[in-house]
Parts: sequence; C-alpha cells; structure tokens
Amino acid sequence: MPPANRKNPQRAASSESQYSIVEFVRDFPDDETCLQWLWRTRYSEDGVHARCPQCGVERAFKRYETAQQRQSWTCTACGTHLHPTAGTIYHKSSTSLHLWFYAIYLMTSTRCGISAKQLERELGVTYKTAWRMFHLIRTELMTQGDDVLSGEVEMDETWIGGVVRTGRPGRPRIVEDTKTAVFGMVERGGRVVAYPVEDTSRITLDPYIAKHVLPETTIYTDEYTTYLHLDKAGYTHRRIRHKSGVYVDGDVHTNSIENFWSLVKRGIGGVYHAVSAKHLLGYLNEYTWRFNHRQDGQAMFLTLILRSALVPSLH
Ligand SMILES: [Zn+2]
Repeated sequence: MPPANRKNPQRAASSESQYSIVEFVRDFPDDETCLQWLWRTRYSEDGVHARCPQCGVERAFKRYETAQQRQSWTCTACGTHLHPTAGTIYHKSSTSLHLWFYAIYLMTSTRCGISAKQLERELGVTYKTAWRMFHLIRTELMTQGDDVLSGEVEMDETWIGGVVRTGRPGRPRIVEDTKTAVFGMVERGGRVVAYPVEDTSRITLDPYIAKHVLPETTIYTDEYTTYLHLDKAGYTHRRIRHKSGVYVDGDVHTNSIENFWSLVKRGIGGVYHAVSAKHLLGYLNEYTWRFNHRQDGQAMFLTLILRSALVPSLH
C-alpha cells in the first residue's frame, strides 16, 4: 500500500460518509468563501456580472470593502446594492455564514441527529442561537413536500414525545405526559412521509393518504380499525395481525415504517430529550429529510446549502 498523502487525505472507499469534514474545510475554509459561494449561486455565475434589478439588464458589480455586517455588491452603473444573504435564513443573523454552513454540515453528517446543546459547544454560540439555527434549518430547508408514494407502501401511527420531568436530580417525577400522535407512510425502498396529527382517526388520516399515496397502491398496515376502509378506497390493503402475535407473514409486514420510528425515537430520546408537540414537525422534517436523501449521489450537505440559497426564507 502506498503511504497516505497527509496533505490531501482521501475518503476511504468503504466510508459511509458522502462528504467528510476534510472536504468541508477544503471547500469552505472561511466566511468569505461562504459569502462568495452565496453571491455566485444566487446572483452571479462569474462572480462579476449580475442582473441589476434597477437597470433591468446585466451589469458589472463591484464589491466594496466595508466594515458593515451586511456585505454587498454594487452595480457599477447605478449604485444599487445586492446583498447575497437577503431573503435567506442567514439574513440579519449575527452568526457568521461559516458557522451556519458548519451547522448544516453537522446536521447532514449524523445519522441520529445532533442536539442544540452540542451545537452550542461546537460553534461557541449561545444555546438560544444554536437552537434557533437548527429550528430554521429544520422548518425552512428540510420541509416535507408533496411526495407521492406508490408500489408497496407501509403506513403506521405511533406516539412520540414529551414526558416532562421535574424533581431532584436522580429522582425524576413525571408531572405531564405530552405524547403526540404521529402518522407515517413509507414506500418500500423509497421515500418516507411523517407528520404530527391531532389524533389517529380515519377522518384525520385519510387526507394524508389521499395526498401522498397513488390509487392502486398496495398498502400494508396493522389491524387498527382506522385502515379498514382502504380496500374500498381503491387500494389493495394487506393487514398484519399483531394481536395474534404475527409480525411478518411473507411480504405482509410493516418493518420499514417501524424501523423508521425506531430511528426517530432513538434520536429524540437520546439526543433531543423531551420534544414538545409544537416542535415535533421540525424534528420529523429532519428525520424524513435525512432518510429520503440517504442514497443521493450528490452529498446531502450540498443539496441543503443549495436550498438555503434558492428557496426564499419565511422568517
Ligand atoms: Zn444598476
């Protein structure tokens, strides 16, 4: 075996990582690189020319050195400023772009998630800032869309959350059980969709099924009565009889969705501790997003920063 080149480390072929920390540091070594990337991605392919909204045509833009926090490029014809961070989740944030990109990197490089507490330590920001960054990434960049599932789809409901404990350390006293119902659907070998729901009644779950599952799909569920009408609704419905102690009967099982639940619960239990119902959607976004991009040829990180540049922020 040739000696490793320590100046240009290569990712082991066997590594699961699609984008290692070495590659991140090489591609985005500092704040300036991140700003330049945002400028080129959003406005200016060559880094100089961009369409000026005031002039209405393409113009040369010049970067003026400024002590201002909001860095901008200026139209050489009319003086209009373009701010690369305007309208993104980075807008008006006092946290550097470099730390934002690193937070996104961390979120995409873990399997089970990373807590705001750990981000606080890694970035040297306050807990409030760390939490807010994760919140914006989850609710604006990792949003669940209109995924349509077909073929073989497993669906299941579960309860997640939220046991609030008080009392002396080591002697926790459970004062409130705030578990929230969650409904999930996964296409075998494909994508997953998961949302917090009011309850698990047919009236509540049906719109999710109608929106996300194509007619004539084969649906696998347990024997819960909510699903009894699916046959009449144009689906092929196969039920597993958990009550009789049967968990797998040939291809009739709900293992895929149950595996997804255990991934979410392991993460929330071990990393995020108690998750309030209000924020559960954000966490589900994060887990479904990682699951749905697990086989992306393109690194998850790059997909996500591209979204941060191109999807208008709502905050
Ligand atoms: Zn102009």
